[in-house]
Amino acid sequence: MHYIGRFAPSPSGPLHFGSLVTALGSYLQAKSQCGKWLIRIEDIDPPREVKGASSLILKTLEAFNLFWDDDILYQSACYKRYQAVLQSLLDKQCAYYCDCTRQRIHNLPSGIYDGFCRNRHLSNAPQQPLAIRLKQTRPIYQFTDQIRGLQNVDIANAQEDFIIHRKDGLFAYNLVVVLDDYQQGITEIVRGADLLPVTAKQISLYQLLDLPVPTYCHLPLVLDNNGNKLSKQNHAQPLDLNDLTTATAQALQFLGQIIPENWQDASQQQLLEWAIDHWDIAKVPKQNSQLTTNI
Ligand code: GLU
Repeated sequence: MHYIGRFAPSPSGPLHFGSLVTALGSYLQAKSQCGKWLIRIEDIDPPREVKGASSLILKTLEAFNLFWDDDILYQSACYKRYQAVLQSLLDKQCAYYCDCTRQRIHNLPSGIYDGFCRNRHLSNAPQQPLAIRLKQTRPIYQFTDQIRGLQNVDIANAQEDFIIHRKDGLFAYNLVVVLDDYQQGITEIVRGADLLPVTAKQISLYQLLDLPVPTYCHLPLVLDNNGNKLSKQNHAQPLDLNDLTTATAQALQFLGQIIPENWQDASQQQLLEWAIDHWDIAKVPKQNSQLTTNI
């Protein structure tokens, strides 16, 4: 089977060093197997979107010579396709409306949704929109990550009827990520380890929808001085486009890869080509960490 990978940024701000690590890792994993590397802009959450972020993200990838294959998929253009799947899940009674508040769920001993509305047969009314939850009949208790190995999933978490459509009318990430990875023909998902906890939910959706399950590689997260993930929300510094090769060499080191001795003399394209030839996923660290580098 031909390898197809992807990078799927949300346009909530400019790319930072942590995003470069994820973009580069997914790019190298695809290109080292002569595969395709696709881009998807995950713009399904307008309130979190920052104006101009999508084009800035794409310009940054281009500046790093991280060129993608095929057309970019924008989630905001796919509502009809998502709605059709949502409706068919409701029609088959594989999903149901739920009016539970966050507070009610928070007060449960497990803090995990308990299926309270499963048999209440609520229906949506325009004046009081409700969330829609998936009826979880295919819980996934274990899966293998290609970097981190066998992952065991907490039972209550695996069995949770999770939200696939939010009461504010937006489609939930866990639903659309699966529909789009299938739509784009993605064979392997390489992304940040912050998404490891929702992977079992996504695998269960593939199975419920009878879709082929891709393989997964979760890359280590870059942590700040407080041990938090570098993120747009934590105001991580945007990538500096004036020194592409230094950032790329640091990202390669962070991913456990060797870098050429004369990397300072290399152009960005030469560095990338070298990195494709020498990419070894087995060397990628299994732990998140801060960036410690001598370059
Ligand atoms: N859009 C998500 C993010 O920017 C990534 C989703 C994924 O890779 O599955 O963090």
